[in-house]
Amino acid sequence: MKLIYERAGESARMLEPLDVPALRPADGMARKTELKLPRVAESEMSRHYAKLGRAAFGVCDGFYPLGSCTMKYNPKVNEAMAALPGFTDAHPTQDAPGCAHALALAKEYLTEITGMDDMTFEPCAGAHGEFTSMLMVRAYHLSRGDHGRTKIIVPDSAHGTNPASAAMAGFEVVPVASTADGRVDVEALRALVGDDTAALMLTNPNTLGLFDENILEITRIVREAGGVNYYDGANLNAVMGVARPGDMGFDLVHLNLHKTFSTPHGGGGPGSGAVGCKAFLAPFLPGSGDERSIGRVQAFGGNFLVVVKALCYLLALGREGVPAAAEAAVLNANYLKKRLSEKYACAAPGVCMHEFVLDLTRLRQETGVSAMDIAKGAIDCGMHPPTMYFPLIVHEALMFEPTETETRETLDQAADAYLKLFDLAYTDPEALHNAPTTGSISRPDEVAAARSPRLRYEHTA
Ligand SMILES: *Cc1c(COP(=O)(O)O)cnc(C)c1O
Repeated sequence: MKLIYERAGESARMLEPLDVPALRPADGMARKTELKLPRVAESEMSRHYAKLGRAAFGVCDGFYPLGSCTMKYNPKVNEAMAALPGFTDAHPTQDAPGCAHALALAKEYLTEITGMDDMTFEPCAGAHGEFTSMLMVRAYHLSRGDHGRTKIIVPDSAHGTNPASAAMAGFEVVPVASTADGRVDVEALRALVGDDTAALMLTNPNTLGLFDENILEITRIVREAGGVNYYDGANLNAVMGVARPGDMGFDLVHLNLHKTFSTPHGGGGPGSGAVGCKAFLAPFLPGSGDERSIGRVQAFGGNFLVVVKALCYLLALGREGVPAAAEAAVLNANYLKKRLSEKYACAAPGVCMHEFVLDLTRLRQETGVSAMDIAKGAIDCGMHPPTMYFPLIVHEALMFEPTETETRETLDQAADAYLKLFDLAYTDPEALHNAPTTGSISRPDEVAAARSPRLRYEHTA
């Protein structure tokens, strides 16, 4: 597909000649080179963007079980509420009691759901919330004159942003092993903690979709060693309204409002990585007004309209609806897991939470078809692929998170398609090596796209 710069532009019609005096920019302010804009007619431009839109795949196009990302359907009414002019036209420095009330209500509900005492909405993504939390952990230890706490313990099943955030905040990352059944190795943790432990970063349920039953003991071990317990709340969709991080022994938590609480995501934002904490950490929050605050991490209140959507979602679901959504997410994941285990091997046996991981090691050994090949085959079945090669502790991993907003009919169609792909691996592996064949591109060089992205158009003339 041609870029808009590459389209022929004879039909472009620029503005009428000026019939008023031209206003020149102040000296030195005018650009020195010509501004290179695409020159196409409005009709061509509309087609161009409509075509780009069709090339994208979203939750409204089909099944999107991208594990760990919670790609659930986001009710349109929440968008409509967040688009009300009273919210969109308010300036952050303006006295806007309605906006302040919305923020206060969202804080009240989300601290209740997480079992925390206070919260900031400044961070704009999950990773940003993690980083904010790590800065708070550091400020907390230093405020007590404890300078030796330099290490953050992170399970080897963790999302990659966890060790990255800890390292960016200046900590040393210490991995703790998982047991064969995918939980934290409690004895290994006990041996790791000490005077140098700043915090544990943990997500529960973890990235294998497993709830760690030893959670109270895990957080006790860290607390008794003088460390802070930090909860990566990106997986809250599995437990919201059912179990609270605060009751599991956690002191600090980030939420992905854009995953769990109804903001479309995947296209780069805007998001919200709200950070909640227990009272003893509240002085360290951004904008706490206390001199121990870590300071701002984002202008004003963060992505306010994302918080409005979360609030509308919570008001619509209510006290019964929030846990019901979590329970349906868990039920859907278990249903799909059960159906896929007719043929596929699972990384962890038994009941899962909101997501589960398939292990295709054996399929690859027997057929040469990889997790990547199956994921690409799913595209030809009209579905978004699951998360591939994550968590890192499973080799040929495919991670499915169907979410609560899928019907049984969709889950059955997906299961049938994946079981067919499994058979195809044995009968025609070549077909899967060449998939997908229905998209506008087949197999892009994903490493090059991530490592050396070309983000600017290089004009030749
Ligand atoms: C998505 C995710 C994150 C990071 O959130 P972003 O908003 O993408 O920065 C962190 N941890 C887990 C477990 C996640 O699934």
